[in-house]
Amino acid sequence: MTRSITIIGAGQSGLQLGLGLLGAGYDVTIISNRTPEEITNGRVSSSQCMFDKAIQHERDIDADFWPDAPSVNGISFTIPHPELPGEKAMSWASRLDSPAQSIDQRVKMPAFMEAFEQRGGRILYEDAGVAELERETSRADLVIVAAGKGEIARLFERDDARSVYDAPQRALALTYVNGLTPRDEFSAVSFNLIPGVGEYFVFPALTTTGPCEIMVFEGVPGGPMDSWQGLTPEQHLQNSLQILKTFLPWEADRAADVALTDDLGVLQGRFAPTVRHPVAQLPSGALVLGLADVVVVNDPITGQGSNNASHCAASYLESIIAHGDREFDRAFMQQAFETFWTYAGPVTRWTNTMLAPPAEFAVNLLGAAGVFPEIAHRFANGFNYPPDFEEWFLDQNKGTAYLERVAAEAAFTPVTS
Ligand SMILES: Cc1cc2nc3c(=O)[nH]c(=O)nc-3n(C[C@H](O)[C@H](O)[C@H](O)COP(=O)(O)OP(=O)(O)OC[C@H]3O[C@@H](n4cnc5c(N)ncnc54)[C@H](O)[C@@H]3O)c2cc1C
Repeated sequence: MTRSITIIGAGQSGLQLGLGLLGAGYDVTIISNRTPEEITNGRVSSSQCMFDKAIQHERDIDADFWPDAPSVNGISFTIPHPELPGEKAMSWASRLDSPAQSIDQRVKMPAFMEAFEQRGGRILYEDAGVAELERETSRADLVIVAAGKGEIARLFERDDARSVYDAPQRALALTYVNGLTPRDEFSAVSFNLIPGVGEYFVFPALTTTGPCEIMVFEGVPGGPMDSWQGLTPEQHLQNSLQILKTFLPWEADRAADVALTDDLGVLQGRFAPTVRHPVAQLPSGALVLGLADVVVVNDPITGQGSNNASHCAASYLESIIAHGDREFDRAFMQQAFETFWTYAGPVTRWTNTMLAPPAEFAVNLLGAAGVFPEIAHRFANGFNYPPDFEEWFLDQNKGTAYLERVAAEAAFTPVTS
């Protein structure tokens, strides 16, 4: 008999898992609290830059609908000089082995919803709460909560052992613009780290009106980049530009002629990075499984949330299929999450590390990336596969040994004519 699965939430993870399950022959219902029209005409919610391995999961389920969208071909990393305004203390760039891309969720989710229905999926429009979860657990074989940062995620208890922070670490802001001057040489996530103030990164994307660039601001709470509340869209844009002029004049130059893509192309907010237990029990005793941001929500500083959502959906898809006809009990749910955590754990550790003042060996590695292209290349491509950071960037012994090896090899590289 066909097994039925209900997913709460029509975002990156819910829709991707729903499409994957339909392809594998499951009967799938998605509950969404927003219609496609409301999503298209609503506010931006993310900068959603996705790297190749995450996009591959979309290709695997025939949901890679934007092969010609603006591509992000590298990562650049800059730290301004602390004493010489307008000067850079560190600056390097490296290409990604395969391009990344950012498709505005206002564009992507309605297209995914259309494909989901065309392929036989059912979408119910309602704001699911406990009553709706009880209803779905009584009729479906498995109920998965993919509601992102929605209130319903609070049904899942915080995992104190795996959560490092209990308060927001950055004041976040997004500014979607047209008219930004492209980088020379190759497109990139241009990442700037201003010690004690915050981070700014900008990259090309596709929005509802066509190609654009997304500015992402990560302000240290209480600092000069924590200045977004209560602004009109135009004031939000002016605040973005003022921050660039003050701290990153080279980025201000690129942004001299920008305009907002639309009045809803701005966002501000903050949240505490949190890992939650993956299984929630309803009053009836029925169990539901959390997916993606519901169970692992990281700060956007490393741009991994949509990537994680894609990896989580792909990992759960594999676990569900491998489980065959057996009951989706607590042991299955816990195991499905632990399998995903082998990937998400390193992502979380790297992201939490980037929020804290860097260790000396990590500063040395970032500095050395400006001298040794191999290190810059490894850092840039780590965005596509963060578990690699465990092998060098997150471990003092491994990182120091790696730097010594790269430096020694460079010293002995024979010069060829
Ligand atoms: C400022 C910012 C910048 C970011 N930049 C990046 C980036 O560059 N790269 C990256 O990879 N990630 C980035 N992210 C994170 C990324 O957007 C999220 O991690 C990702 O969208 C999570 O996917 P999800 O499927 O878990 O949830 P979402 O995509 O949030 O989807 C959840 C869906 O569930 C719906 N929903 C909620 N509650 C209910 C309910 N009760 N009933 C029915 N439906 C419900 C919501 O309306 C929504 O449609 C960023 C996030 C922020 C805030």
